[in-house]
Amino acid sequence: MPGHNLPVLWKTVLADLQIDVSETVFKSLLNLTTPLKTEGHLLEIACPTPFNKERLEERYYGQIQRVLEKITGERWELVFVVQHLPKTSPPPPLGPLFEKKGVGENLGKNQVLGLSPRYTLENFVVGSSNNLAYAVAQGIIKDPGKIHNPFFVYADVGLGKTHLIQAIGNALLKERPQTKVVYCTSEDFTNELIAAVQTKKTALFKNKFRTTDILIVDDIQFFAGKDSIQEEFFHTFNALYHEQKQLVLSSDRPPQEIPKLEARLSSRFSCGMMADIQPPDYSTRVAILRSKRDHFHFDVPDDILDRVAQQVTRNIRELEGALKQIVAVALSENRTVDQELAEAVLNKNYAITAERRIAPEKILEAVCTYYNVRHQDLLGANRRREIVEPRHLVMYLLRQLTKTPLVQVGRLLGGRDHTTILHGVEKIESILRQNGKFRQDVINIKQSLGVK
Ligand code: ADP
Ligand code: MG
Repeated sequence: MPGHNLPVLWKTVLADLQIDVSETVFKSLLNLTTPLKTEGHLLEIACPTPFNKERLEERYYGQIQRVLEKITGERWELVFVVQHLPKTSPPPPLGPLFEKKGVGENLGKNQVLGLSPRYTLENFVVGSSNNLAYAVAQGIIKDPGKIHNPFFVYADVGLGKTHLIQAIGNALLKERPQTKVVYCTSEDFTNELIAAVQTKKTALFKNKFRTTDILIVDDIQFFAGKDSIQEEFFHTFNALYHEQKQLVLSSDRPPQEIPKLEARLSSRFSCGMMADIQPPDYSTRVAILRSKRDHFHFDVPDDILDRVAQQVTRNIRELEGALKQIVAVALSENRTVDQELAEAVLNKNYAITAERRIAPEKILEAVCTYYNVRHQDLLGANRRREIVEPRHLVMYLLRQLTKTPLVQVGRLLGGRDHTTILHGVEKIESILRQNGKFRQDVINIKQSLGVK
């Protein structure tokens, strides 16, 4: 890897990833990797167990690749090999929570499982995009296990799910230090259950998860398709629910839209309070940037924050990243943060891509023109194939190019139900897999919209 010292590069990659993943994933997975060697643009990475290898390949390949590309400017392919390295040789894949004393034995006072103190309600900026979720969080802290149970919060990445649900745990602990709080991601839950079965410690597992006062499970969408895990979670859920213990769950979508989630679970998840978090509006973005600036003691004037808030709109993680990057460039070039510097950083890294600018109406128009059909037909109930296929294609393109939420796509297409939209998108995905001519049609339409 010319120009790069491999261990140093890998440290930089890990430091970057640490910001994006949960602490437990970082400690139990990413931080146990060691870079071995490079061959051309192939990077070989060692990890301690086949289980880690599988998770890295399935879940973190793309993320690692993107970070590497950001740092080196080049695209790398990754190969994970299982290798027990003397120094990093880890404990068996018990999941991080197992490493802390005996599971379930010492829960209680001062035993905070999985929470990071940096997420608090005090530093959670509230705006119209997240005020419902915030209000529910406050209600839970006043009276856990009662009115808002379970609390199900959903939003796209980087909009504050983890922050909010961890803040609930932290606030409860502050108010009532005796409270038993367990926070984990659905992946932690999965790993711990597998490990408990392997090591015949399921009693401890149950004790840990079923005797807590509040169970917070992040990114529940990763339970999708894992039937036996869902089964166990169902029982955990019921045990806690019947004891009026608080359950807080997060996901990137509402329960009914999580594929391969048992109906009995999704109905349980929906039976309490649900709230979504939307991307922040301009004034909330400005407020968040100010709060971050003050928190980190950055010397950045207000007009620069306004400029960042104008350009970085998609999510809060990116917003925070842009601010940090501007400060980092100023530091490394030993200059103060001014408009020129901010402009350069924003235009280089946060350019508004063509995709994000496409208006949904344009997509509708492009598809109508291409297939020579009328708007009204796509919005209406006509079920002829010449109409249905373009209609499905509009659904697909809206989802793919503008990330419009399903419910909104449904509204744009004449008030259709979100499951209809999901079905339409899947139809197109299936045709795309089988039909080369159709693939070409889609490419043509995208080109007419100015997207590759
Ligand atoms: P998610 O879990 O939805 O992907 P996170 O909770 O990890 O998102 O949030 C991403 C980053 O944005 C975190 O650094 C978090 O502290 C910050 N953040 C999110 N929402 C807010 C908010 N309302 N106020 C302040 N910071 C926020
Ligand atoms: Mg999260």
